[in-house]
Formats: sequence, structure tokens, C-alpha cells
Amino acid sequence: MSHIADNIRYFDEQLKNTPARLVAVTKTHSVETIKEAYDAGHRIFGENKVQELVDKYALLPHDIEWHLIGHLQTNKVKYISDFIDTIQSVDSLKLLAEINKRAEQRNRTTPINCMLQLSIADEETKFGMTYDEAVALLQSDDYRNMHYIRITGVMGIATNTDDQDKLRNEFRQLRSYFEQLKETFFFANPDFKDISMGMTSDWQLALEEGSTMIRVGSGIFGSRNYNK
Ligand SMILES: *Cc1c(COP(=O)(O)O)cnc(C)c1O
Repeated sequence: MSHIADNIRYFDEQLKNTPARLVAVTKTHSVETIKEAYDAGHRIFGENKVQELVDKYALLPHDIEWHLIGHLQTNKVKYISDFIDTIQSVDSLKLLAEINKRAEQRNRTTPINCMLQLSIADEETKFGMTYDEAVALLQSDDYRNMHYIRITGVMGIATNTDDQDKLRNEFRQLRSYFEQLKETFFFANPDFKDISMGMTSDWQLALEEGSTMIRVGSGIFGSRNYNK
């Protein structure tokens, strides 16, 4: 049995008694490699680039639940709007409006799930909205008139650090943003339920702080080679 199948089983076991789900992050890995995880029964996969996602979607079975987890440019929404399950990296009202528009044009049977990416790390290079920007988005009339998307939670990328206290604080921050938004805008709405946080190096910590979706790449598929 492949070590990838073993890794999938390991995470299934780890998440068994938690509300959390695993997004297997496949960027830079081949479809053959991804197929090993698929054959082990895994169905939720994440990519961070549109072109790579489109190529892999075409070559892999269509019962995969694809999540986009990287920055999305407005002009690229149209390439994924047919098949994407969840866009975790929504960071502006303009992007959300485009996703809604493209979802309306396609004959999708389900809305596109969207997660608000909130900035929790101190690196400026990380995309994501501030809490106030997320509030403004949710208060806008534009948002209220969107019927082809649904907001299912928040996503955050923590600082790239070994400092456990710092990571814990950032995860706590995201969870508290989630709870405030839930109370203010989604009180009776069960769609708003997910906190996507935690990667290979910090998923245990993220789970302790309330993550419902961990995004693990190298911990399943091994290290990435970006120069292929
Ligand atoms: C690559 C990536 C991950 C997975 O990173 P690993 O450290 O390999 O687990 C998670 N989230 C995002 C947004 C990523 O781009």
C-alpha cells in the first residue's frame, strides 16, 4: 500500500472524533499522486492556482469536491465556476460579486460555497480581509442580493513560525472572528459553520483551537518541488 494511502488513513483516524474535515492540498503534485489519495477514499482536495486546478479537474474523477485555497483574481473566476465546490479565498466584495455572477450564468444545481479569508498573520504579503472589511461586505446591499453563492465560514493562514503561542493566538483570533460574524450575520443560518485553519506543521494546534477544516499538503504528499 502506498504511503499516501497510509497518510490518508492516519488523518481519517485523527479526525474521526472531531467535527473537522481534511482538505488534501495537491499543488505541484501529479494527478497520479492525487489518484492514490482518491483511491484511498479521499474526496476533498484543495489547489491554490486556477490553471493547475482546471488541468487537474479535467483529468480526475468528477466526484471530487474541489476547494480553491489560493488568491483568486476576478478575471479567472469564469474558469472554475462550473465545477468548483468551495472558494476559501474570498477577500473582497468585488470578487464575491463576480463569483455570484458566474454561478448564475452556469446551470449549477448548487450555489458556490464561499469562505471569507481573514488576515490573522503579521506578514503583509498574506491576502485576506480585516474583520471590519468582512463586516462591511456582509452589511452591503450587494451581498444581500447575491443568490448563487453561500458563505460557509472563514479561512485564515497563520504566520509561518514555530512559535506555538503566536500560532495559538492567531487561531484564537480567527475563531473569535468566526463567532462574532456568526452571531451578527448568521445566527440562524446553519450554512455558516466552518473555520478553515491549520496546515501540516500546525494542524493539531488548530484543531485544539476549534478548526473544522485543516488544509494539509506536504504531510500527505511529501515535500513540493516548484521547479518541475
Ligand atoms: C500549500 C497550502 C497549504 C498546505 O501546506 P502544507 O504545509 O504543505 O500542509 C495550506 N493552505 C494553503 C492556503 C496553502 O497554499
